[in-house]
Amino acid sequence: MDLALSPADEAFRSEVRRFLDEKLTPDLRDAGKKTGGVLTDPPATAKWHKALYEKGWIAPAWPKEYGGPGWTEMQRYVFSSECASAHAPILANFGTRMCGPVLMRFGTLEQKAFYLPRILSGEDYWCQGYSEPGSGSDLASLQLKAVRDGDHYVLNGTKIWTTHAHFANRMFCLVRTSSAGKRQEGITFLLLETKTPGFSVQPIITLAGDHEVNQCFFDNVRVPVANRVGEEGQGWTIAKYLLEFERGNAYAAALQAKFAAVRHAARIERNDGTALADDPEFKRKLAETDIELQGLMVTEHRVMSQLAQGQNPGPASSLLKARGTEMSQRITELGIEALSFYVAPFEPEARLQGANVAPVVPEHGLVFMPQYLNTRAATIYGGSSEVQRNIMSKLILGF
Ligand SMILES: Cc1cc2nc3c(=O)[nH]c(=O)nc-3n(C[C@H](O)[C@H](O)[C@H](O)COP(=O)(O)OP(=O)(O)OC[C@H]3O[C@@H](n4cnc5c(N)ncnc54)[C@H](O)[C@@H]3O)c2cc1C
Repeated sequence: MDLALSPADEAFRSEVRRFLDEKLTPDLRDAGKKTGGVLTDPPATAKWHKALYEKGWIAPAWPKEYGGPGWTEMQRYVFSSECASAHAPILANFGTRMCGPVLMRFGTLEQKAFYLPRILSGEDYWCQGYSEPGSGSDLASLQLKAVRDGDHYVLNGTKIWTTHAHFANRMFCLVRTSSAGKRQEGITFLLLETKTPGFSVQPIITLAGDHEVNQCFFDNVRVPVANRVGEEGQGWTIAKYLLEFERGNAYAAALQAKFAAVRHAARIERNDGTALADDPEFKRKLAETDIELQGLMVTEHRVMSQLAQGQNPGPASSLLKARGTEMSQRITELGIEALSFYVAPFEPEARLQGANVAPVVPEHGLVFMPQYLNTRAATIYGGSSEVQRNIMSKLILGF
């Protein structure tokens, strides 16, 4: 495939840049720049979501009939690279990339009509309730019990590692509606409101000191049967469909922006008058990473063009998940080398919006250490690298 930008794509890039110049205000860029975790926190994301929604650009991969912009694969790539290099806030994609595609495929007409516009407008903020203590890689062992009581299911149990549950007003989750037969056949997919009585959220603070993930508790939480997606017992099929979209993420654009920041840091002169970028061993590491990044980008283009033709990502989503997250760890490790002894100060307050504390760490490397710590989890969440390799082996190699 031809990866050079056509004149039409060049024109599109100029349009995106004009939009970013106008709408990506300094406070939003600052929030994006200071994001040390996977996602930027609200309220910056709410403001950015609104700007993209008003422009019709909030769900780049959605079909036009549901409110997507109708972009080509290359336009989507151009858009995400421009957003990443301009330091746009990183938006949660539980609605646009996960719940939305599931509803389009498995939802009733009423569910589509109610939820899809609210995902686009940002009225609903979703979180994903899949994992439980002891049920992560082995998701089919999940235990959160849902017992039918008239027009409701009554939920008891817990979910863990739920990203941004403390911001979300809705959760899509997998529950156990039957313990008979194969484990997978007793799982059902439900949508619920986090304000439902009996639902509570406890924070889990990460190694980097951030509050991104949570444990959620369910104590007789009543969920209307009308909030079930698909049939009772069809949850496993839906869950797998959703995971293909979760894992088939595009990583290269954001990684290129992070890699550019590392290169910049490595070029800055140190106290002894030399720069790390001149060190032959570091140069070799940069070159290797650059080549791998190009490879990842081309693979992503290939997979995305299959998606654009209406195919599912299939096992390629596992390949992208494993490669993308491992590359993200690699790049942050180079960042740590480039930052040298400035990795030591722990200054979470310096990353707060509007902070008036002068950071010890130079501005260009403020998020290197938090990102390094945060990306340690990247090869675990969304399915660990080992699990992705099992899937690739089974689906591609056949054993
Ligand atoms: C930061 C973060 C955010 C998350 N966000 C969410 C979220 O929003 N919603 C949600 O539902 N979940 C979320 N998760 C949970 C995540 O999906 C699980 O952590 C992940 O699936 C791994 O499960 P586990 O933690 O139970 O580890 P385990 O499954 O216990 O795995 C432990 C180790 O054993 C290895 N292993 C397990 N099984 C196999 C196997 N069959 N073959 C080879 N090796 C294997 C794994 O690779 C891993 O190294 C998040 C996790 C993290 C860390």
